[in-house]
Amino acid sequence: MVAGNWKMNTTVPEGVDLARAVVALDRPAEVEVAVLPPFTHLWPVCAELRGTGVLLGAQNSFWEDAGAYTGEISPAALAGWCDLVLVGHSERRHIMGETDEQVARKLRRALTHPLRVILAVGETLEQRDAGTTLEVIHRQLDAALIGLDHEALERIVVAYEPVWAIGTGRTATPAQAQEICAAIRTHVAGIVSTEAAAVLLVLYGGSCTPDNAAALFAEPDIDGGLIGGASLKPQAFGAIVAAAVATVNATVDG
Ligand code: PEP
Repeated sequence: MVAGNWKMNTTVPEGVDLARAVVALDRPAEVEVAVLPPFTHLWPVCAELRGTGVLLGAQNSFWEDAGAYTGEISPAALAGWCDLVLVGHSERRHIMGETDEQVARKLRRALTHPLRVILAVGETLEQRDAGTTLEVIHRQLDAALIGLDHEALERIVVAYEPVWAIGTGRTATPAQAQEICAAIRTHVAGIVSTEAAAVLLVLYGGSCTPDNAAALFAEPDIDGGLIGGASLKPQAFGAIVAAAVATVNATVDG
């Protein structure tokens, strides 16, 4: 899977143009391609994507379905026409102060609807330097996933996004990313089941570009990317999708 997180970028007309450009990319069926526009763009972008196979995702959703929560977005309102929702992005954890518990509540509420959920996890530079990366990742996974069954896991995608690599131009090396993505799979095997972990999609995110995508995707436990900055440039996003397709084909051929 290659998913483009547009964050708080583009106007509605620009977003519609960007969606059209993504639809026009060469997208063989082996790789799922998704776009996550701002909320204001979801409906018109949905119209552009209908019947194209490009998945539509929201960047966040709330932990209740309805009520007095001014400015929040209900997963019930997204279900049925959006395919995915992202929860736990580091910008929400670190800028908006979302806790592991809140992320877990959002994930669980979203799963009560026909939605797939991308759960983002990742350590800060301070945590990496302190040697606590795995402890942090395990805590984030435990909060979100303990108690979920195999069936629920089938609708979850985990995105490993080291905070120090997001929007910084500083990518994790393929070896660093592989180490943590493998650890995520192992941990999920312990929390849910080995079978669920084996088929779990684990994405890497953090300054992923056409220059480094192929090397990252070649790692055995990296099943694609959550792409921020580069997803706003159709050519770059297309090249990242092409890198994912080439990896899938090489795996099948090999
Ligand atoms: C992201 O926002 O999820 C992300 C990975 O951003 P960037 O690719 O710009 O680092």
